[in-house]
Amino acid sequence: MIQIQPKVRGFLCTTAHPHGCQKNVEQQIQQALTLAENKHESRPKNVLIIGGSAGYGLASRVVCSAGYGASTLSVSFEKPPKANKTASAGWYNDYYFQRWARSSGRSAHSISGDAFSTEIKQETLESIKASMGKVDLVIYSLAAPRRSKLNTEQELVTHQSVIKPINTAVQGQSIDTASGALKPFTLEAASQQEIDDTVTVMGGEDWFEWMKFLSDANALSAHCKTVAFSYLGGDLTRSIYGGGTLGMAKEDLEYYCQRINDELLNDNNSSRANVAVLKAIVTQSSAAIPSLPLYISLLYRVMKARGNHEGCIEQIIRLFDTGLYPEHLQTCKRDRPYRFRLDDRELNPAIQHEVSELWQQVSEENLSAISDVDGYQTDFLKLFGFEWPSIDYSLPVPTLPSFADD
Ligand code: NAD
Repeated sequence: MIQIQPKVRGFLCTTAHPHGCQKNVEQQIQQALTLAENKHESRPKNVLIIGGSAGYGLASRVVCSAGYGASTLSVSFEKPPKANKTASAGWYNDYYFQRWARSSGRSAHSISGDAFSTEIKQETLESIKASMGKVDLVIYSLAAPRRSKLNTEQELVTHQSVIKPINTAVQGQSIDTASGALKPFTLEAASQQEIDDTVTVMGGEDWFEWMKFLSDANALSAHCKTVAFSYLGGDLTRSIYGGGTLGMAKEDLEYYCQRINDELLNDNNSSRANVAVLKAIVTQSSAAIPSLPLYISLLYRVMKARGNHEGCIEQIIRLFDTGLYPEHLQTCKRDRPYRFRLDDRELNPAIQHEVSELWQQVSEENLSAISDVDGYQTDFLKLFGFEWPSIDYSLPVPTLPSFADD
């Protein structure tokens, strides 16, 4: 048993509290359970989530399982606990999600390992064959820093993803997650190698490989859908995101989306690949992107004041309820046949204008007054199970949870 407090280093928190992570998962489950009241004629039954232990992938798993009663299989890369060291937050999320699913009569399996590897793809296939037969929905929600891949000489090469602008260096400021203070940054322009590497890690090739692997193994149902998540952002984040290395990777994701539709799926309404462009939210991955914590703090302030703020679970519920299912009632905005725009509220010109005005005024002195920096920090710490008022963080808890702890 150890006392667990947050240890924030840069944009990472190196500890996680099991009971707080349990609460995070349960809160999302409660929201998704309301979906179960609307009985849709079409809904996913067997779902594979690649990257299902945190952020948008976890929310997708919760919506499929709690909202639609689907069997779920998640692949993620998380650290298990040791006697005196906590697990990663995603490991606890996964543990408590599975426990809830089983106690509620939903089938839920998880695989831990590198989703880019052939071994994990093979293990996933075996699990699908054993417990589901075929999948009818594949969610691709990886946010990874690196990918090891065989080159043409069959040597394993590791590609590193970088967050950099293209062509010109960028200077800006963001929020230091540990202190909550404004912090200047400079990012040099990416080299061609860095652009290529980022596309290799965060682009669509691995999504395509997963779909091809499952299709060749006859593990996709005739009506299988797949969706991968993207972010575009507006002018304020363009130099770092949309027009930077990650933006290039997201363009590549769309290229592969088209290829999945053309080569692997019956391209009809009930079987197709989609890209869902989602809103900027607080996750471990977005915390790593310079300027996003500041942008999100200002955006949340504006959207909360206007009453149209959405978090992770609300975005995914809207995607499923108005976009992916039921097919004949799709009301979700689309700007390309395969592309859903759940970022429509974020990119509303009036909202972007207001955020832009605040962006120009923001300083150390007025940061708390004109932004939602306090909310950002609370949301960030909550990702790791902290800041729950009902939890006494001074009490020691086991790092390895067990059913007896409840
Ligand atoms: P996250 O950091 O919360 O979760 C990432 C998931 O990927 C985790 O489950 C993690 O275990 C898994 N993962 C990472 N490397 C892995 C590996 N090698 N093998 C297996 N699993 C691995 O991320 P997120 O912010 O939810 O992002 C998910 C997707 O949504 C990304 O494509 C991201 O670009 C997109 N997106 C995010 C935002 C945002 O603001 N956070 C906005 C729009 C779109």
